[in-house]
Amino acid sequence: MPAATELPGLLAGLEAGGLKRRRRVLEGGQGAHVRVDGQDYLSFASNDYLGLANHPELTVAAQLAAARHGVGAGASHLLTGHHALHHRLEADLAAFVGLPAALLFSTGYMANLGVLTALLGREGTVFADRLNHASLVDAALLSRARHVRYPHLDLDALDRRLTDSDAKVKLIATDAVFSMDGDIAPLPELLDLAARHGAWLYVDDAHGFGVLGREGRGSLEHFFSSSIPSHPALVYMATLGKAAGVSGAFVAGSTELIEWLVHKARTYVYTTAMPPLLAAATSRSLELIRAEPWRRERLAALIARLQAGMAGLPWRPLPSRTPIQPLLVGGNAAALDLAQGLRERGILIPAIRPPTVSEGTARLRISLSAAHSGEDVARLLTALHELAAA
Ligand code: PMP
Repeated sequence: MPAATELPGLLAGLEAGGLKRRRRVLEGGQGAHVRVDGQDYLSFASNDYLGLANHPELTVAAQLAAARHGVGAGASHLLTGHHALHHRLEADLAAFVGLPAALLFSTGYMANLGVLTALLGREGTVFADRLNHASLVDAALLSRARHVRYPHLDLDALDRRLTDSDAKVKLIATDAVFSMDGDIAPLPELLDLAARHGAWLYVDDAHGFGVLGREGRGSLEHFFSSSIPSHPALVYMATLGKAAGVSGAFVAGSTELIEWLVHKARTYVYTTAMPPLLAAATSRSLELIRAEPWRRERLAALIARLQAGMAGLPWRPLPSRTPIQPLLVGGNAAALDLAQGLRERGILIPAIRPPTVSEGTARLRISLSAAHSGEDVARLLTALHELAAA
């Protein structure tokens, strides 16, 4: 913990190590073409995978709900903030992902904190993939459970750690789509392991919901189609601020689990409900996700085009079948240089550096959206090949 007097020196150290962050100011809506810091860019830098964040029908749904119900929820869900629009959305989300019940949270971060602290205490152990999102790491720490990490996607190592554990409550926590790598966790095998060891399986589908599965129902549809196995220890979480284009998150699972969370998830109980207008916009988003498979088809075509075009570059594309297409550069400075070169060509892609990723694996996180055209991807490929040759 730094003292106030140490901050200037520590910040200078971040700058020297290529780790200084700065916030760019977005004007106007999110999209493939954005205005940032007064400049126009072609952007591969959002999680708006389906191009819904700035969709006029979502805007209208939010406007209508605001006109009818106002802006703020005004209270937490357990007081008077639980609106009919929230209630209907929860039922629709549960049906959409194929689980018995669902509960809305204000953000994915809060959902992760709320669930892990509601299910675990000092006598529990969280078994976590080493590349899980930071919010799952924090959730495990806050729960006071033991935090055992296993090498990325190494299910044999996970099996051994589960076997060796005598914890009273065990919970396997995994990203379904890893946020900085884009690869997918093998959920059927993880469910088998969870069943065999009497453990919960907690699936964070922040980057799969809306994107994976024929109808965009997410990672469960991707693996199980419409026959989601009935597994009382499965806990599914997805965020609504990425492919769904709005904000917030939900947790889905058995009715008993959801009832328990209503009582025990402190980030649900002790916070103001999300504005009902966001629930209205999300309901409209859900209809578009379901009714417009062309968005996922466009994404698949763009992914194929990008991957084919990246062959021969001096940087290594990571093997990902999702809209998250990382290009591994290595050093922090090299990744920043490449991002800068792209910016000079009017293209915005973030350089992801430690501590978000491990040392020596700095990368460009190219994220594709159904809002991109084939020409957008072609322009990115031209720029990358020019920078490789420079
Ligand atoms: N889980 C994962 C895997 C994420 O990538 C994110 C957001 N980056 C979150 C949870 C947190 O979601 P939210 O932004 O809604 O807090």
